[in-house]
Amino acid sequence: MVRLYTSWLTTYPKAYSKMASFCFCGKHKRYKQHVFCPGNAMGSTNVLVSSPGKQPLFSFGVVSDVQYADIPDGHSFIGVPRYYRHSIRVLQRAVQKWNNHQNLNFVINFGDIVDGKCPPNQSLDAVKKVNNEFQKFNGPVFHLIGNHCLYNLPRDILLPLLKIPGLNSQAYYDISPGPEYRIVVLDGYDISAIGWPRDHPKTLQALEFLEKKNPNSDKNSPEGLLGLERRFVMFNGAVGREQLEWLDGILQDATKLKQKVIVCCHLPMDPCASSQEALLWNFDEVMNVIHQYKCVKACLSGHDHKGRHSIDSHGIHHRSFEAALECPHDTDAFGHIDVYDNRLLLCGTDRMQGTEMYFNP
Ligand SMILES: [Zn+2]
Repeated sequence: MVRLYTSWLTTYPKAYSKMASFCFCGKHKRYKQHVFCPGNAMGSTNVLVSSPGKQPLFSFGVVSDVQYADIPDGHSFIGVPRYYRHSIRVLQRAVQKWNNHQNLNFVINFGDIVDGKCPPNQSLDAVKKVNNEFQKFNGPVFHLIGNHCLYNLPRDILLPLLKIPGLNSQAYYDISPGPEYRIVVLDGYDISAIGWPRDHPKTLQALEFLEKKNPNSDKNSPEGLLGLERRFVMFNGAVGREQLEWLDGILQDATKLKQKVIVCCHLPMDPCASSQEALLWNFDEVMNVIHQYKCVKACLSGHDHKGRHSIDSHGIHHRSFEAALECPHDTDAFGHIDVYDNRLLLCGTDRMQGTEMYFNP
């Protein structure tokens, strides 16, 4: 088995001068969008029972909403139990299992690593503590930011700490795990009232938006909002114009290269894979861009906690992951995804449901 490691790059391809891309060969000091290491078409010994002889093109670990805090167990605002101290144990067991697997090429953390209830004077240490656990994985870990991350630390501290690439504290980027696939990571809190400085134009834009859409004095409350409008709450956010254009460029390029694309965002983008309160503010706008192309096969997310799967009108799979935070003691919620040319196979542990996502190659 060929183990591939990424190198964090300081130069960006011309076409995407503002954001970073990653090649997994570790040999290309200056990454070129169209150059792939032959070793990237990686072999794996993980032969699946359902398709004997077929090996995945690559595999990666997934976990979401660890929301660790050194505080007693509690509940969400709708009464779902939360196990703030236990969640880091779930992550530790995940890392152990990912390392034992030996054929995982990287891990994606879908955001919210430390809970907003973490005492403010412990925030930095708590984020470092959880990050240290992720770093015990024998390979690259790619982080998405969530609202709870941003309650604890501002972007200018959080992003460098988690080695999230991007200029001007933006947290969107793409990953090239091999010639057949592109993974796009979206920043769902691009336009948001949390995480940016209070007088930042994006904070002001988000507050103005919320003022129009949500009449409650507590903008975290969806009370009185109907149906899909219930997503217009402060704990969500939007993908901004510039990021949408960047996404459009990536999808154009992927189409040209005949690549399949997996889109990752902390916030879900399909109403059938999420509660109405957890959706990205402008999920419709983002999906309109995605639906112009045929290359996107799956959208993966966190934030909703429950764990759901849907297939939208264009045949795109949406899978929001079960939260590590909501695992009662000695139970788990993490997994890994085996990627094939015609499907993604999510192998879940314990509370994370296994999911087969077939599509037209
Ligand atoms: Zn969240």
